[in-house]
Amino acid sequence: RNLVKHFPVRKGWLQRVKGAVHAVDGISFSLKNHETLGIVGESGCGKSTAGRTILRLIEPTSGEVFFRGRDIFRMEHRELKALRREMQIIFQDPYGSLNPRLTVSRILEEPLLTHKMGTRAERRRAVEEVLERVGLLPEHMHRFPHEFSGGQRQRIMIARALILKPRLIIGDEPVSALDVSVQAQILNLLGRLQREAGFSLVIISHDLGVIRYICHRVAVMYLGKIVELAPADALYREPLHPYTQALLSAVPVPDPRRRRQRIVLAGDVPSPLHPPSGCRFHPRCPRRLDVCPREEPPMRDMGDGRRVACHLHGEGRLWEPSWSGAA
Ligand code: SF4
Ligand code: MG
Repeated sequence: RNLVKHFPVRKGWLQRVKGAVHAVDGISFSLKNHETLGIVGESGCGKSTAGRTILRLIEPTSGEVFFRGRDIFRMEHRELKALRREMQIIFQDPYGSLNPRLTVSRILEEPLLTHKMGTRAERRRAVEEVLERVGLLPEHMHRFPHEFSGGQRQRIMIARALILKPRLIIGDEPVSALDVSVQAQILNLLGRLQREAGFSLVIISHDLGVIRYICHRVAVMYLGKIVELAPADALYREPLHPYTQALLSAVPVPDPRRRRQRIVLAGDVPSPLHPPSGCRFHPRCPRRLDVCPREEPPMRDMGDGRRVACHLHGEGRLWEPSWSGAA
């Protein structure tokens, strides 16, 4: 709720603080049990920082994160350790994130050892079981990461996240480093595991097309803010925010009758060190109004679980962040 993360920028001999990178600038959302939420935006929009803050891998500048009703930034050491077990992250790079000197079975056993779970035999069974669930074979257990393809390594990463039976998994660009042909396999696997095991899933991606089929809801971020949040089918059918419209227009659609005119955005993403005034998207927005550079559009509730922050949609109710009803 109202999560903010600014990274101070220091300059000069005295290393005085000369400003701050507004990585995450007041975002609010909830995630339900068994829900898959996509967080989408161009690189540098703050989506990875948001993901890491939710897991308390980064302390926020301000704001709160509630996990099952408890503020995770107020947790004591012991409670935090239990929380670590319930929240897992899968990174983009299946090459750099696996220790090349450990066998798969050691890699998968390690989280269980860290949390002092199970006997040796039980851990071994857990490893076998989780390998099967991610589509690997029992004999893969004795091999090393370099003996696997990129897709298989990402399966190992998923198995490592899964073995602790978490309630929340965050995938930070989990398929971006993989061949296009393998991306769908891995996403389908994540989607299937999510349905079977019932954990909540957050998928962070720069590609709206990639996450289309596994997310229940999608949050679109631009320069540290959520500009639109909606159920996936509504968002893909009828995006409300001009930025979402532009992102979606770049996603290939197989059916020519449903093809959208490609919207090409002018200019680059502005620096998060000095975000533009008013609506941060205004220097690039093809539908900009006079008010846009002056006034920041508030987040509005458009009904049916849709929220958008844009002056073109001024009729909705003002939306206030809360976490009631959240998981
Ligand atoms: Fe474009 Fe204005 Fe909407 Fe921002 S508020 S997205 S500049 S129309
Ligand atoms: Mg990132």
